[in-house]
Amino acid sequence: MGIPDEGGRAAAERLAQLNPAQRAAVGFGVGARDGGELRHPPLLVIAGAGSGKTSTLAHRVAQLIDCGAEPSRLLLLTFSRRAAGEMSRRVGQLISRRATGSPPLPWAGTFHGIGARLLREYAARIGIDPAFSIHDRQDSADLLNLARHGLGFSAREKRFPLKGTCLAIYSAVLNTQATLGEVLQTSFPWCAEWQAELKCLFREYVRSKQAQQVLDYDDLLLYWAQMVGEDELGREIGDRFSHVLVDEYQDTNRLQAAILLSMKPDGNGLTVVGDDAQSIYAFRGATVRNILDFPQHFAPPAQVLTLDRNYRSTQPILDAANRVIALASERFTKELWSERTSGEKPRLVAVRDEAGQATYVVEQVLARREAGVRLRSQAVLFRTAQHSVRVELELRRRNIPFVKFGGLKFLEAAHVKDVLAILRWGQNRRDRLAGFRAMQLVAGIGPKSAGRVLDHIAATAPGCMLLEEQPVAESARPAWREFAALIASCSPGGATWPAGCEQVCRWYLEQVERLHDDPLARQTDIEQLALIAASYPNAERFLTELALDPPAASSDAAGPPLLDEDYLILSTIHSAKGQEWTAVFVLNAVDGCIPSDLATGSTAAIEEERRLLYVAMTRARAYLELIVPQSFHVTQQPALGDRHVHAARTRFIPHALLPDYEQLSWPPPAAIAAPASPQARQQMFDLTARMRAIWE
Ligand code: ATP
Ligand code: MG
Repeated sequence: MGIPDEGGRAAAERLAQLNPAQRAAVGFGVGARDGGELRHPPLLVIAGAGSGKTSTLAHRVAQLIDCGAEPSRLLLLTFSRRAAGEMSRRVGQLISRRATGSPPLPWAGTFHGIGARLLREYAARIGIDPAFSIHDRQDSADLLNLARHGLGFSAREKRFPLKGTCLAIYSAVLNTQATLGEVLQTSFPWCAEWQAELKCLFREYVRSKQAQQVLDYDDLLLYWAQMVGEDELGREIGDRFSHVLVDEYQDTNRLQAAILLSMKPDGNGLTVVGDDAQSIYAFRGATVRNILDFPQHFAPPAQVLTLDRNYRSTQPILDAANRVIALASERFTKELWSERTSGEKPRLVAVRDEAGQATYVVEQVLARREAGVRLRSQAVLFRTAQHSVRVELELRRRNIPFVKFGGLKFLEAAHVKDVLAILRWGQNRRDRLAGFRAMQLVAGIGPKSAGRVLDHIAATAPGCMLLEEQPVAESARPAWREFAALIASCSPGGATWPAGCEQVCRWYLEQVERLHDDPLARQTDIEQLALIAASYPNAERFLTELALDPPAASSDAAGPPLLDEDYLILSTIHSAKGQEWTAVFVLNAVDGCIPSDLATGSTAAIEEERRLLYVAMTRARAYLELIVPQSFHVTQQPALGDRHVHAARTRFIPHALLPDYEQLSWPPPAAIAAPASPQARQQMFDLTARMRAIWE
């Protein structure tokens, strides 16, 4: 395979750890020459969960580096920033036996993160300002809402779609590369009558983004795709990278596929890996067709390799997961097998309700910890973030540390958004949304003054505008002057980083009591934010990364809070992608939750829910428990209020599959205690309602 001598032995040692199919994928085309030029034909590795796709990709990167590839010319695209970091670490470990120090992989990241970097770098060539701000989904929805109001659509007699729906439609059009008419017809038929207005709204949204030098998530892909769609730029950017390697390819959308094909039109140096059975992001425009059609984009077609040995789970867990996915209507990857035999089948546990579920899960978690499985090797997974509320309550009650992924983000808290708005406005004075929010934090400045200042700024040539001289009420002038100095300190060319951010946090903490209730809790978050900020080299990197891959919780933001301590993982199934734990608990394995009653519309949506359950089950190494509450709480029914409904086991585990599980009821019938007193129930209900309100 042409491995240079110095790395030869280490590489051979490394390859010996792999099975023959993995080895073939790692070494495919490495070192092959075509007329003197190095050629790496396109490769697709398509294989089931836990078969070592991600490990194989890490080995392939190590192998390429061993064979002389420049790490800075390897573009590695992963599903999350966490996954990119993990991949860099693994490659570093694989390589470090030979080299001194681990080679960084400077171009490992998510599609959105890499897109942002490339766009800043090439901004001047494509007519955008390199200081553009990035709006997260919430900001985008807010800006769209401003446009919606501005055009008078919100005042229509018949209700115009809400901002979230508008954004979902807009995003679907871009990511699926379909027309507005098609998207409305297939996914939002109830909005079809508004097609003309929506088009007008989106036009206005794009106009205001451009006027404010703002890019949203979709723009990061869209601008990137357009940029590499230009022959010359496409070639130039494509040639920067000798290899482009993509993990979790089943969850990419058409735009992402178009980007890859523009950068590597002949597939040279392109490797993608994924599992069609784990495609769970169609709701965001991902299409499993990308992975299935990948080989045919090239002539000759890309090499397809499959892996069928699972290294993660015991055979009984695999059997159960295999049979769940075998009922899927369409599927490419084969069944998996494992050498990890175990007598323990996965458990299917019937509990009375969500309270019972919480108690059961927490007790089992503790029992496993007693048996030597640390909390970090255990995960509680759920379909939507609200499903874990009861478990969180129980964990808090018993003082068990946990970290939650998915759902409400730290950055969505009002006070954190306030501070970020100041920093963002400091960076980009044309960002109206940031400016509007930031200015209203100043005592005496309301929406009217803020709007006036923004209009003033928009009408002034960049660079000729003095913030302290803006038209504000005389009574607000002293506070305004202080604020203007603050903005100057966090502008490019202002105070050094992170000092600028520290000043902002200090100023904000002085205002917090006036602005919010419970200032103390907020203070801790702001202090955390300052700490995180200090770990970034500059404001722009900090704001970009935070907008793109926000930490899941304040505790996650600065790394786990309890660095040396143990903590349980709580995660939505979507956020659990690619990961594994010794013990996995899946909450609410009932119809209405999995499949979610939000998804029961089309067959395709139901099939995606089946794959979600498959993803959840295949995260488990040794112990898997699916919990089936006999009744659960239904909220979001304004007409009916909260109520308990009878629940049935998820349809994805029909009667015929029951022999794959050890079935049990908890508590065992004899142990059922007398029902709680009405007073105790009332207390519990109040607390849980408050917990739920956090998510509403
Ligand atoms: P997913 O589909 O969930 O993303 P995957 O196919 O990417 O899974 P990995 O996460 O790469 O699988 O590997 C699953 C587990 O198997 C990991 O713990 C990995 O270290 C282990 N593993 C992979 N290949 C081997 C091997 N050849 N020998 C021993 N362990 C292996
Ligand atoms: Mg993986």
